Amino acid sequence: MPEVFDLVVQGGVVVTGAGMARADVGVRGETIAAVAADLPTAGARRVVDATGKLILPGVIDVHTHPVYLDDIHHTSITAAFGGTTTTIHYAYARPGMKVLDTIKKFRDDGLENSLTDFGLHAGLFDVANQIEELPQAFELGVTSFKVFMTYAKLKWMTDDYWLMAVLDVVGQEGGLVAVHAENGLATDYLEDKYNRMGLSALDAFTRTRPDVLEAEAINRAIAMAKVADCALYIPHVSAAKALAPIRRAREEGQVVYAETCPQYLTLTEEMLHERGPQAKIGPPLRTPEDNEGLWQGIQDGTIDTVASDHAPKAKRVDDDFFEAPYGSPQAETLLTVTYDAGVNSGRISLPRLVQLLAETPARIFGYYPKKGTIAPGADADVVIFDPTARFTIRHANQHSQANYTLYEGRECLGRPLWVMQRGRVLIEDGQLVGRPGQAQYLPTQAAKT
Ligand SMILES: [Zn+2]
Repeated sequence: MPEVFDLVVQGGVVVTGAGMARADVGVRGETIAAVAADLPTAGARRVVDATGKLILPGVIDVHTHPVYLDDIHHTSITAAFGGTTTTIHYAYARPGMKVLDTIKKFRDDGLENSLTDFGLHAGLFDVANQIEELPQAFELGVTSFKVFMTYAKLKWMTDDYWLMAVLDVVGQEGGLVAVHAENGLATDYLEDKYNRMGLSALDAFTRTRPDVLEAEAINRAIAMAKVADCALYIPHVSAAKALAPIRRAREEGQVVYAETCPQYLTLTEEMLHERGPQAKIGPPLRTPEDNEGLWQGIQDGTIDTVASDHAPKAKRVDDDFFEAPYGSPQAETLLTVTYDAGVNSGRISLPRLVQLLAETPARIFGYYPKKGTIAPGADADVVIFDPTARFTIRHANQHSQANYTLYEGRECLGRPLWVMQRGRVLIEDGQLVGRPGQAQYLPTQAAKT
């Protein structure tokens, strides 16, 4: 009696973190039931032809901010168009806000409005008043906590006293702390100094945020995490120099994860002169040498993940640079830009791409092997990717509510065509067919790899 599947993706090349092979993917219900050559299609409700295409696990974007122009609903749509089926959003608890209330609000919003499965990190802005809630956050499925070592003037900064406290408490619970690692007070002094000298905010921007102050903050966080015996995650590493302390800590056996983003791999500070405030992101865009250094970090395994840091805000090129907020739209271009700049250039293999965007994020946050791979028993989160599709990224063909993209005019070879989450099609022929209300909230189990 041959097996019967609900849906068979036929004729493609399946790519996982472990390798690639010509295989069909048989789906039953919400789950992948078989991955093998020439699966039977008799009785299947649907057979999808993937001849000449790659079959990838859905991207897991572990760095998104669904509180600006794209809310949870719109973030999930723009992410899905880009091949992402799971996001881990930062639930920011600003001063005066309760951590647990914030987590519940994001969770309920996502269950109602997201098209994609999601988990949550908590972001702490007022550790002194929020730290007592952290053990209970674990009960709500949140095991990763972010603090800022920078943005002192914005009153977002956590000082070393409270950073040590967070590492201590989260370390005891077996969770993970993420730090936005730049030296905040040094940056603020430099900003004041260049301001007094009459430098424009644009011209002073990268000088006030030099790579060595990012490396310093990472080094400091690593030292404190070691004392606390707490796992550490460094989001959006932007500087080649910042990799040295991470490599050293790894060699000494410390649990330190590093993430970078497509913008730090492909764009440079030149963009500040073209796009002004639209290119204002933190940490800043740096140099071509940093781009190359980060690719080396990916090649030698120092960098574990690539995520988007999607934070779209309404910014015009001629807005006041100093007043402009940080952030840019990135979710939809995450896979395509990393693929084009990484695989097409020969810098990374397809399995390495899948490790960076799906398998390793799933492992770090406790979703593997339910997510992050194409294998029997995994959720049927499947992307059909056409490596021969040539297209030009334009704001007009993106689905974010942002008014621009930093990749305007970038020609890419390769794009996702068809996206399925747990057996339900989200994107088909470039059209959104998924609906909200079916997303799962996925509690994390950080750093239990
Ligand atoms: Zn971010």
